This record gives sequence, structure tokens and C-alpha cells, in this order.
Amino acid sequence: MRTDAIVVGAGIVGISVALHLQKAGRSVLLVDRGQPGGETSYGNAGLIQREGVYPYGFPHDFGALIRYAMNNTIDAHYHWNAIPKLAPFLWSYWMHSRASQHEAIAHKYATLIEHCVTEHDALAQEAGATDLLRRKGWMKVFRTPFEQETRLAEAARWKRDYGLNHRALDAAALRIEEPHLDQSLIGGLHWTDPVTVIDPLGLSKAYLALFEKLGGRVAQGDAGTLAQDGDRWSVTLADGTKALGMDAVVALGPWADVLTRRLGYHLPLAVKRGYHMHYKPLGNAVLNHPVLDTERGYFLAPMRQGVRLTTGAEFANRDAPKTPVQLARAEPIARTLFPLGERLDAEPWLGNRPCTPDMMPIIGPAPKHRNLWFSFGHAHHGLTLAAVTGRMVAEMVSGQKVFVDPTPFAPARFG
Ligand SMILES: Cc1cc2nc3c(=O)[nH]c(=O)nc-3n(C[C@H](O)[C@H](O)[C@H](O)COP(=O)(O)OP(=O)(O)OC[C@H]3O[C@@H](n4cnc5c(N)ncnc54)[C@H](O)[C@@H]3O)c2cc1C
Repeated sequence: MRTDAIVVGAGIVGISVALHLQKAGRSVLLVDRGQPGGETSYGNAGLIQREGVYPYGFPHDFGALIRYAMNNTIDAHYHWNAIPKLAPFLWSYWMHSRASQHEAIAHKYATLIEHCVTEHDALAQEAGATDLLRRKGWMKVFRTPFEQETRLAEAARWKRDYGLNHRALDAAALRIEEPHLDQSLIGGLHWTDPVTVIDPLGLSKAYLALFEKLGGRVAQGDAGTLAQDGDRWSVTLADGTKALGMDAVVALGPWADVLTRRLGYHLPLAVKRGYHMHYKPLGNAVLNHPVLDTERGYFLAPMRQGVRLTTGAEFANRDAPKTPVQLARAEPIARTLFPLGERLDAEPWLGNRPCTPDMMPIIGPAPKHRNLWFSFGHAHHGLTLAAVTGRMVAEMVSGQKVFVDPTPFAPARFG
């Protein structure tokens, strides 16, 4: 089987890359070992974070560090035995998160984020999936004046520097927006620019259906078989067929390093694991917006499947067994925030955010191979940036001018 391009990894990033390449007139084969959209891209919180110009940094305030050292918080958890292996990544992540560095990174990262809603809108419209998008933004809710003032001041700075819109909600205004939330909350911050997705797997499937409608092919296969074959790239599919493509794109999310290491790249990748669980709302309770309980560190998102509780970062080896302690800690608090009923999943879902220490994705040509492209490392923002990334990669592969300057995201920045 011959194609112009092979994309390995059919998460929301790989699907968006394949779709954009197909739209650009290439013949594309999209290869995954499992169900497209069924891994990390299935279980996220559904935010297209238009406000997310500052990628999530490593906290530098002393209080947070003390709390994390105790390893009993909801927002972060780590496996002690993973720390020696993770130490170089954590050190570099810590250094990149210093205020001045973080600000410089935000400046570059904002050039991607500014297109996240418009690029998803374009694809969703073409895919007939706009019913999966909600245009009501999302909220941080507050328990103390200190947190409220800190977050509102931050939002005011982001408005000034990046034009990001928000509304400050006092207790009464919050109650009007979210009548079923805990009445003791003192207010909220409503980000009004972001769009949210009520079924992230549904969005992946809609983009995939459009890709196939345009002539794209999807196959099962192991990306581990990707190899150079003369002047082409080849991959062996599950049925034994060998597929050949002029270009190959690696979009394996948290598994990218398995392949890139074999190809001779030593990229500083790690994962931040995260869990979710769905709940039936009690009685006639309704959650109108996704809500972050800022001071406790978990998130509630109204989804088609129920209210999805997602947890913060777990630092562990990617393939270590599940340890959903953050979910266990968050659940009783979440039940006091919003009337959650029964659990709807048999067990907690675990996903892996694919992370780089400078908090920016890796998008661009592989430094040591011709016609090989990298597209992974989107961390907390893989859903947010999938459509933007897809367009960038398609423009690079086609030799067109790229609509966002790709230089800051180039794989070559890691040597
Ligand atoms: C709890 C949680 C909440 C999140 N919330 C948000 C949010 O609100 N907004 C947001 O923007 N992001 C969020 N994220 C992050 C986001 O989900 C990820 O960044 C994104 O899904 C990564 O997409 P991907 O396509 O790169 O990876 P994946 O979706 O993991 O796709 C990688 C694909 O590669 C395939 N694969 C792996 N190895 C092989 C192999 N050897 N051969 C063939 N195929 C292979 C897998 O089967 C998989 O389909 C969240 C993440 C978590 C865990």
C-alpha cells in the first residue's frame, strides 16, 4: 500500500494532523494500535483553553512546595520510586517555571493558543460536530478572599497582556450562574473566551469520519514497526500489509518516546498522569459550566456521560499501576461542592499528559531524518491545540508558509 503520508497515533492530535494533510490534497494513512481517540484524548476535561496562554508551570511558592512534599494533596501526587528517573525532567521543568522564564514561554505559547478556538470551529463545522461544543466558557470558584483576589489580579494582567476576557462573579452572581453549587462559595472567575467539549471522544470520531469521507484511510498497526525503506517510510499493519509513505508523522502522545528513542532521539519527555470518574447528578441538580475548585485542586465538567471529575498531576512512570488516591481525596469534597450521585464508571480512568520540561509541544521536522515530522508533547493542552497543530504540520509537510511561526516548537530546540 502506498500513500503520501503515514501518521502514527490516532489521538486528537494525530487525527487532526491526518485530517489537515488530507484536506491539503495528500493521501494519508492513519495508524493506531487501538481505538482512535480512545486514549488520553478520550478522558480529558474537554476545555479548549483560549485563556491558557501560561502553560501549567511547576509552583514556586513555598506553601505549595511544603504541601507537595507531604504527598497528600489533591492537585499533585507522586510515586516515590519514580522520582530518581523523573528528577532531570522535574529540575528542568522547575527552572523553566521561574517567573521570568514562564513569562517568556507564555509569550511564544500564546501564538498557538490564540488560534485554538477558531481552528477547532473550522474543523467542527466541516465535520458537522458543532453540537459537541459549548460556548459558555468555564469557571474557577473561590472559598477565600485571598485566592479570589490573587486569581482576579492574575486575570486582569492576562487581559492587559493578551486580551483574555473574563467576568468577576461575587457570591450572588455565582449563585445565579450555578444555583446548585455550595452556597458558601464567595465568588468565581468566569473565563468567557474558551469553548468546551461535552464529548471529547465524539469530537475525535467526528474529525475521523470527515477524514475518511475525504478519502483518508485508517488502519490498525504498531508504530514500533515504522522504519526507513529506501526514500520512503514503512509501517507494518496488523493484517501483515506493509504500507509505504513519502512522509511520516509521529503523533503518539505519551508513547512518542518509545519510537523516538529507537530512532536515536533523546527528548526530555515525561508524563503527568490524571484520573477521571463520572457521576450522575443528584435529583434535578444541573452544572451549567465546567468548574475548577481552585483551592482544592480538582475539576468538574458537565459531559454527555455525566459530571466528569478530573484530577491534577500524578508524577509516576507511565506504565505503573493505577493509584487513584487523588480521586479518592477529591470525591468527598466534590460532593459538598455539587450534589453528585452514584459513580457511573466501574473503575477510575487513567490518562497520561505528554509533557516537555519547557511546557511547549514538539511540532516540526525531526532533526536527523528526512520527511519525518514530530507532533506530540501537548501536556495539558492536547485537545486545545490539536486543530492548530494539525494545520501547522500539514503546512510544513506541504512546504507552505506556516500560519504560526513554528520556530519555538521545533524538535531541534532539544538538540
Ligand atoms: C485528566 C486529564 C484532563 C485533561 N484535560 C484537558 C483539557 O481540558 N483540555 C486539553 O486541551 N487537554 C486536556 N488534557 C490533555 C489532553 O487530553 C492530551 O494532551 C491529549 O489528549 C493528547 O493527545 P494525543 O493525540 O497527543 O495523545 P493520545 O490521545 O494519547 O493519542 C496517542 C495515540 O497513540 C497510540 N499509540 C501509542 N503507542 C502506539 C503504537 N506503538 N502503535 C500504534 N499506536 C500507538 C495510542 O493508542 C493513542 O491512540 C487532559 C489530560 C488528562 C489526563
